[in-house]
Amino acid sequence: MNGASERDHGYARYKLDGCRCYRCGFAVSQYNAARERAIAYGTWAPYVDAETVRQHLRNLQACGAGLRSVAAASGVDRKRLQAILTGRPERRTGPQERVRPALATAVLAVEPTLEVLGAATVINAVGTHRRLQALVYAGWPQHHLAAALGWTDVNFSALLRRQQVTVRTARAVRDLYDQRWKSDPREHGVDAQAYSRARNHARRLNWQPVGAWDDDTIDEAGAEPYTGSETPVWLAAVEDALELEADGFTRQQAADRLGIQRSTLDTWMSRYRNRPAQAATEQEATA
Ligand SMILES: [Zn+2]
Repeated sequence: MNGASERDHGYARYKLDGCRCYRCGFAVSQYNAARERAIAYGTWAPYVDAETVRQHLRNLQACGAGLRSVAAASGVDRKRLQAILTGRPERRTGPQERVRPALATAVLAVEPTLEVLGAATVINAVGTHRRLQALVYAGWPQHHLAAALGWTDVNFSALLRRQQVTVRTARAVRDLYDQRWKSDPREHGVDAQAYSRARNHARRLNWQPVGAWDDDTIDEAGAEPYTGSETPVWLAAVEDALELEADGFTRQQAADRLGIQRSTLDTWMSRYRNRPAQAATEQEATA
C-alpha cells in the first residue's frame, strides 16, 4: 500500500485520510449542519426527513462500516436502517421518507471510529504512528513493541514509514498504547540501557510524548501536538475569526460562531493588528 488514497473527496476521505480540501470540508460541514438540525427538530417535530439519515448511512458505508456495526453503535435495528436505505422490496415499499427525530439523532451520532469501521478498511496512519512514537518516547524499545504486536522488527519499521494502515492494525496499536502508556517500561522487563536508547532515539527524531495528545486529537490528521507553550486564548480567537472572514463570514458572524462578544473580538483584533513586529515574528517562527 503506498501513500495515495483511492477514495473520492468527501466525508470518508475527510474522516479516514485526513484530507482538508474544500470538497471534503464542505461534505463534513453539510453533515454537521444536518445533525444539528435533526437535534433541534427533535425537540418539537414528530418526524424529520429521512434523507439526511440515508446520506449519513451511505457516508458510513463509504468509510467501510457495515450496517451491522452501525446498528450496534446507534442502537437502531438493522432492518430499520435497511428500510431507510432501500425500503422493503418484499413489501414493495421504497426507501422510507420520514423518521423519528430520536432515530435520526442516534444514527447521525455514529462516527466512523475504529469500533465501527470494518477491520480491513484502510485509514491514514497518523494516530498509529503517534501512539507508537509516544511509547518509544516513554522508553519502550521498538523491538519490545513489535514483539507485543506479534510483528517482526522489519515490519515495525516499515509500518512507521507507511502513510496508511488497516483498521485491524490501528486497533491493535491503540489497545497496546492504552495498556502501556501509563506503565514504566523498566518494571516490565525492559533493561535500563534499552530504555534510555529508546528515549534518546525518540527525542532525536523529534517524536512527541504521550502528553502531546489527547483522545480527541491523536487520530486527527491536522492536529498540532501540545508542547506546553499554549497560544493565548485571544490570539487563537483572532486567528479563527480571520479564517472565518476569509471564508466570507462577517465579523459579527465570526463572533457568533466563536461564542464571543462582537466588541471583545474587535478589541482583540486591534490588539492583534497593533502588536509589536517583534512579537509577530516570534509568533510566525513558532507557528
Ligand atoms: Zn479532499
